[in-house]
Amino acid sequence: MDDCLFCKIVAKEIPSSVVATSEHFLAFLDINPVQKGHTLIVPREHSTDLLDMRPDIGEEFVRFSQAVATAVVRAVHADGFNLGLNNGRAAGQVIFHTHFHLIPRFSDDGLRTWPSQAASPEELGKLLESIGPVDF
Ligand code: AMP
Ligand code: ZN
Repeated sequence: MDDCLFCKIVAKEIPSSVVATSEHFLAFLDINPVQKGHTLIVPREHSTDLLDMRPDIGEEFVRFSQAVATAVVRAVHADGFNLGLNNGRAAGQVIFHTHFHLIPRFSDDGLRTWPSQAASPEELGKLLESIGPVDF
């Protein structure tokens, strides 16, 4: 993809702080970190988002992320981490090249997780009906 920022990072046309590499993935530090150690994990091959990514590299995506998380958490002495993916503009995606955000978390960091509210069994039941059988 000619004007994809992360493709350019993968191709080393744009510099990045590389944390680790694997056969199909690259991990580098986010230039605008939510927390110290905020790392992006991207497939070398362009895909716009998770649904567009080749499923056969999914297992490596998780295994590589586990290895990167282990090293980053140890380095910054984090108490935990969030591993997330913004899929689509509505979910906050700005760069349309698939990527996991690995965000180290600290017991006293003051960040919250997503706000939530209780759903009734009826609502959950209706939702299940509308989702239907998952094609897998
Ligand atoms: P998203 O909103 O999920 O698309 O996240 C894009 C992320 O890419 C943001 O957290 C940015 O800070 C990060 N980012 C943008 N440009 C660069 C860059 N040149 N090097 C490293 N991270 C970047
Ligand atoms: Zn790309």
